[in-house]
Amino acid sequence: MSGAGATDTRRQRPLGVFGGTFDPVHLGHLSVAWEAAELLDAEVRLIPTNVPPHRPPPMASADERVAMLRVALRGQDRLTLDTRELERSGPSYTVDTLAELRAELGQRALVLLVGADMFAQLPAWDRWHELFDLAHVGVLSRPGVGAQLPPVLEQELQARRLADPGALAQLPAGRIVQLEVTPLEISATRIRALLAAGRDPRYLLPAGLFQDRALLRAYRA
Ligand code: ATP
Repeated sequence: MSGAGATDTRRQRPLGVFGGTFDPVHLGHLSVAWEAAELLDAEVRLIPTNVPPHRPPPMASADERVAMLRVALRGQDRLTLDTRELERSGPSYTVDTLAELRAELGQRALVLLVGADMFAQLPAWDRWHELFDLAHVGVLSRPGVGAQLPPVLEQELQARRLADPGALAQLPAGRIVQLEVTPLEISATRIRALLAAGRDPRYLLPAGLFQDRALLRAYRA
């Protein structure tokens, strides 16, 4: 390839990473990840979490969650699956995942995508200040999540806020952007409850998840 160098590195599309338990993956996840990819002109990787440090363990096994994600992501190549956290033993700390990715990406912009509910909890995350040395943070609007942030986080937001999501590609890390995505009031908690009650929430889930009954086995009563 000709002309490789610092200029080309700056022009690379950002990489967005969207972590979660995906227990199960639902249309809220896919829709906001897709819109974030468009707003940032990025490719986005969905990264299922192994043992979430801040919450109870998922109902579906890691293999089941990966199987659902594979089905959900079929037919497009803008959203991809990255199973690195499931391959590590012990709890998944986002900061470790971002450090690994940063080592692979050089100066390419890396954007940690989090829903507004997760963002408000950021100060509880392991070594949370280090996140900004490694990545930008893209905050996805989520219905029902208020604007109130802990004061330490509000300070970070004031210092790091960037209005134009398209400008993130120029820097590897360190800024916060708000990504106004279509509000979809869908949660995995609600879907698990519906399935446990014998209901059929097929239009809250990616179509393929209903074609193979075994995929949702972990949630059915
Ligand atoms: P649960 O109900 O089990 O807590 P969840 O639906 O919130 O699950 P997670 O896998 O915990 O899904 O979330 C992964 C990421 O997706 C988090 O950053 C979360 O804020 C975000 N997210 C999930 N659903 C939505 C949604 N409908 N709109 C915006 N962000 C969402």
